[in-house]
Amino acid sequence: MLTERYVTVALDVPLPQCFDYLLLQGEVAVGERVVVPFGRQTLSGVVLAVHGETPQVAKLRAVESIPGDMPALPSDVIALCRFCADYYAYPIGAVFAAAIPGAFRQAQPWPGFEAAMAYVAPDVEALLAALSPRAHKQRALALQLAQPLAVEAIRAVAGDAMRWVRDWQESGLVVQTRQSAVALQCAPSASPALNDEQAAAVAAVNAAQGYSPMLLYGITGSGKTEVYLQAIAATRAAGHQALVLVPEINLTPQLEARFRARFPGEHIVSLHSGLADGERVRGWLAAGEGRAGIVLGTRLAVFTPLPRLGLVVVDEEHDPSYRQAEGFRYSARDAAVYRARLRDVPVLLGSATPSLESWRNAQEGRYRLLTLRQRAVSGAMPPKIELVPIQRARMVDGFSEYVLAAMRSTLAASGQVLVFINRRGYAPVLSCHECGWISSCKHCSAKLVLHLAERRLRCHHCGYDIRVPLACPDCGNHDLKPLGHGTQRVEAVLAELFPDANVLRIDRDSTRRRGALGEMLRQVHAGEADILVGTQMMAKGHDFPGLQLVVVLNADTGLFSVDFRAEERLFAQLLQVAGRAGRAGKPGRVLIQSMYAEHPFYHALVAGDYAEFADAQLTERRSLALPPYAAWAVLRAEAKQLASALDFLREAASLLAGYPVHVATPVPAAMARKAGWERAHAVISADARPPLQAALRLLAAHYAEAAPRGVRWALDVDPQEF
Ligand code: ADP
Ligand code: ZN
Ligand code: ZN
Repeated sequence: MLTERYVTVALDVPLPQCFDYLLLQGEVAVGERVVVPFGRQTLSGVVLAVHGETPQVAKLRAVESIPGDMPALPSDVIALCRFCADYYAYPIGAVFAAAIPGAFRQAQPWPGFEAAMAYVAPDVEALLAALSPRAHKQRALALQLAQPLAVEAIRAVAGDAMRWVRDWQESGLVVQTRQSAVALQCAPSASPALNDEQAAAVAAVNAAQGYSPMLLYGITGSGKTEVYLQAIAATRAAGHQALVLVPEINLTPQLEARFRARFPGEHIVSLHSGLADGERVRGWLAAGEGRAGIVLGTRLAVFTPLPRLGLVVVDEEHDPSYRQAEGFRYSARDAAVYRARLRDVPVLLGSATPSLESWRNAQEGRYRLLTLRQRAVSGAMPPKIELVPIQRARMVDGFSEYVLAAMRSTLAASGQVLVFINRRGYAPVLSCHECGWISSCKHCSAKLVLHLAERRLRCHHCGYDIRVPLACPDCGNHDLKPLGHGTQRVEAVLAELFPDANVLRIDRDSTRRRGALGEMLRQVHAGEADILVGTQMMAKGHDFPGLQLVVVLNADTGLFSVDFRAEERLFAQLLQVAGRAGRAGKPGRVLIQSMYAEHPFYHALVAGDYAEFADAQLTERRSLALPPYAAWAVLRAEAKQLASALDFLREAASLLAGYPVHVATPVPAAMARKAGWERAHAVISADARPPLQAALRLLAAHYAEAAPRGVRWALDVDPQEF
């Protein structure tokens, strides 16, 4: 009798469980994908188990097809996905769907990118023997096929060349391979001699055996990247693969070039959200087949299959972009640490302003602390941070006289100036001085931002976008005025104040066009721009040798937030921006305009002492039982009526009555209305992880079964923003 087999499949549906299907024909392994019927849909899912016998055959539907295009996910990636589904109380199939390239989520097999394919002749002599002695072009191509040749290269030989190759392939003289021999054209760069602190850090990483988490705490410009590079060199020399995570905004061509120059000839795969599906698949396969030695990627790259993983690096580990803000809300930093543990390899987290979670782990000895106290380039001094009180200062279009004077003298000495302001657009709001009307969004509790160049008012939260009204909608007054400053207005003001200077604005609006950011960065490096006006996009990663003065315009906004993490974020951001100044041997100067120059926050900042700030914050968090000293999650709800959202949250709280968790009173969100939805949340906290997770599992299972009507809900574990 034939034993029926069945498989357990993780499907991308909003349900916490997996589903069983009969396997009537074909072979499939754990970690591969299958296409199955689900309700009236046809879905692709990842096989999590293959069973030899089946209890209730009658009820099971059968697997429709086995595409066979996706190599089986290795066991550590499966374990990582399972862990994330459990930890973040998120549907397991949805986690797997996020972890694999989009091409492998389709019901159709991946057509394969021809360009990804290469061909090789295993036995060139045999191929030559089969060719006519006078077929010169064919013989030339045959010789080249001694090494894998990409389709493009083959086509370059002759218009007909791919047809020849297909014929040879049919007679077995040529085989297909994905191993294309793309030689990387890069001038190799030599590694500088490390200073003592760097050398100690590299030695510690190289000596680490098995799972060993390390926190590399080094001021900006202290040579952290150099430490990664040299540690990776040792990893590669041992034949292992390195996984390097960087924040989205940091994965610049500059950084990639730095890696490629250091490892010429190395197969480096770069994985980020800007890639076309085919590119992502190619990189993913190269990593999973062990061909790529280094994977440089953002958030999602943490799930890349890596058979020979030897080292995990997380650069700027505090960066909020490691946190996915929507849908599957996970922390790629935390997932990276867990992955290193699963694979029993070292993991290096680097930052000038470590997250308080990692700082605490280092203080309590769970992470080894490696410190870089000096700037790496000899003679380079940390920037001097100065506060410029502005309560009583005479201001010119948002700039104090003092700041303008400093800008003038920097420009006169041919230095570059960065003006940092975290607000895009021309002005944060348009207002009527007659009646007090201000431009606000119909759908959100937010102001509409004035974009003067396009003459539009725009909501930065929901995208609502209207023409600037000619007169006040409330009183008809024609004299509407912009209030406050955004990047566009600062750019305009500076162009007027400094007519001889080249002003360059770098923000999300000005860099929307593909390639625009690269071109602007080139201009900055070439010294073609004198004054840069930028948002947080400018704060990280970039290294501008000519930059001598940084001016910060609206820092205070982060000081009085309801969010207990706001100061931590502001400190990190300001220190990062400050770190842009004076990196190439010239001293840098940072001026922060503030209404609250006396605030204790600024004391630690001016001293540039993150350790002092972090210790003080941790003391406070401990006394208030805030994370990382308590396990937190937030249940979020949105509905057309605020009351429905609050009712839902109250009902959820009552479900948890018997659990050793604390559910705070549901409250409207800081931004109570967004895109037409009223938002509210309730904080669920516990002294320890297990009771919190048990409570979250219950909620997730309950509401997956009985979806509330008219309410959208989500669980956010270790929430980063409120
Ligand atoms: P971080 O990542 O900490 O901001 P980087 O690794 O980018 O610092 O180093 C800052 C600058 O110092 C870079 O220009 C880098 O090439 C240089 N640098 C790093 N280490 C050394 C060293 N040991 N000797 C000389 N220059 C160095
Ligand atoms: Zn009015
Ligand atoms: Zn809006």
